[in-house]
Amino acid sequence: MTGSSGPLTNAPGFPALVSPPEADSVIVIGGGLAGLACAAALGERGCRVVLLESRQRLGGRASSFYDTESGEWLDNCQHVSLGCCTNFARFCEQMGIAQFIARESRLTFIGPRGTRHQFASSALPAPLHLAVSFAGLSYLSWSDRVSLARGLKQLARTPSHKLQGVAFDQWLADAGQTPGAIENFWHVVLVSALSETVDRLDAAHARKVFVDAFLSHRAGWEVWLPTVPLDRLYGAELQESLRARGVQLRLNASVQRVQAEPGGVAVQLRDGEQLSAQRVVLAVPAYRVPKLVPQFEPWWRESEGPGRLETAPISSVHLWYDQPLTSDRHVTLVGKTSQWLFNRDQIQPGARTPDGTWYGQVVISASHDVASRPAAETVAKVVAELAEAFPNSPARLVRSRLVTEHRAVLAVWPGHDAYRPGPVTRVPGLFLAGDWIDTGWPSTMEGAVRSGWLAAEAVLRERGTPAQLIAPNLPTARLSKWLLGL
Ligand SMILES: Cc1cc2nc3c(=O)[nH]c(=O)nc-3n(C[C@H](O)[C@H](O)[C@H](O)COP(=O)(O)OP(=O)(O)OC[C@H]3O[C@@H](n4cnc5c(N)ncnc54)[C@H](O)[C@@H]3O)c2cc1C
Repeated sequence: MTGSSGPLTNAPGFPALVSPPEADSVIVIGGGLAGLACAAALGERGCRVVLLESRQRLGGRASSFYDTESGEWLDNCQHVSLGCCTNFARFCEQMGIAQFIARESRLTFIGPRGTRHQFASSALPAPLHLAVSFAGLSYLSWSDRVSLARGLKQLARTPSHKLQGVAFDQWLADAGQTPGAIENFWHVVLVSALSETVDRLDAAHARKVFVDAFLSHRAGWEVWLPTVPLDRLYGAELQESLRARGVQLRLNASVQRVQAEPGGVAVQLRDGEQLSAQRVVLAVPAYRVPKLVPQFEPWWRESEGPGRLETAPISSVHLWYDQPLTSDRHVTLVGKTSQWLFNRDQIQPGARTPDGTWYGQVVISASHDVASRPAAETVAKVVAELAEAFPNSPARLVRSRLVTEHRAVLAVWPGHDAYRPGPVTRVPGLFLAGDWIDTGWPSTMEGAVRSGWLAAEAVLRERGTPAQLIAPNLPTARLSKWLLGL
């Protein structure tokens, strides 16, 4: 890998190869989960990897920010993984950070009229392990519950390829789902899992959520939560694991341009430094790719190109109360603007605010409405909903902060999969990673890790040292195969 400020030999503004790249050199651009997974896998297999991240910290969209008012590092949004996310789990194991993840095998739902419901597996095998919990959701009428059971079975038995491109609200209508089941079940689960409302969802992705998380394996639905802030999760241990794999990590290294040439790929940083490598993996959000690689622009703009992909917003409402609002670790609120409440005191042992206030976070996925309204309006609504959910709590709000990530995740609208590219591009030497490439998964930490490993697999194939990096899914239970044809 070479750094130099030698003369440009290419079109103005484009970087050029300053010297022939070293054998097996790879530059990974982007220190989010996709780039981290890719860099670690390639480093472990003997590639000379340089990981360039424009920010001061790793983790990308799964990271923390400094809140000047409270003097605390806060997670941009509570991140949740599920038991079915086998690649994220493997990544955490490999990088020595699995110790910072807690598995939650009990959830609390608060129904639209304030009734509380515990959600946990019974002793029955999958796919019946959650049947008792589902049956106990009394805010669903019996006709809702019957329609739901039928709908789940029909969805699971429909092959995924027949659902691709189908709008999920249309599928729900065709499957005779009741308004109560749609509003208080399908929407509740899917908006959290896919960050989209049912009218904007591809039915194949909806099916995947229910099959992978609820119907295939007992542990698929279990919620995994970091017990430390995201900055810590993707902090010292992770960096040490990268170094141990020979990855050269460069923070504050913002890439301006990437140009592939016959002998390798030239990378120019914003500060003018130039690097070169045999191969480059771009692990940045989709909208940044054509700006970094002008060679991709025509492809991006094609009618079938990735330029058609869209994003969806997620909001988090950070709340400080004068005393604990609840001792629940987390609750799911049904039929409200507030979707999840996370109680940091409980989830992150030892985490305390400097002024002794209680801190909790409400997550609102698919927050299209929130993004277009005044922050005060949303905060007032959330606070009122929490007061209703915890009517006996004397806690009073001290401070709040609303954060909306407008381009939080890839929007999973019907048919969007056709525009997601694979890791191999038309330009030799250039590869793609990121939660938006064609992984079969939605934009999640799991999807990002998968994308990084798909890109690493492609690099290793081209290098002549193929490897299988993607972890298998949880095994499908025998009864699920028999009853649902999974
Ligand atoms: C608010 C919110 C809530 C979410 N909740 C969940 C959740 O509960 N569970 C879940 O699984 N997922 C969740 N996600 C999604 C998850 O965070 C992402 O899918 C995942 O982190 C994406 O990883 P990535 O590596 O593909 O991209 P990113 O994390 O975006 O990483 C890209 C990296 O590239 C860097 N970069 C960009 N341009 C350059 C450049 N020119 N030079 C160098 N570096 C550059 C960026 O700084 C960034 O670090 C959430 C996302 C958001 C925003």
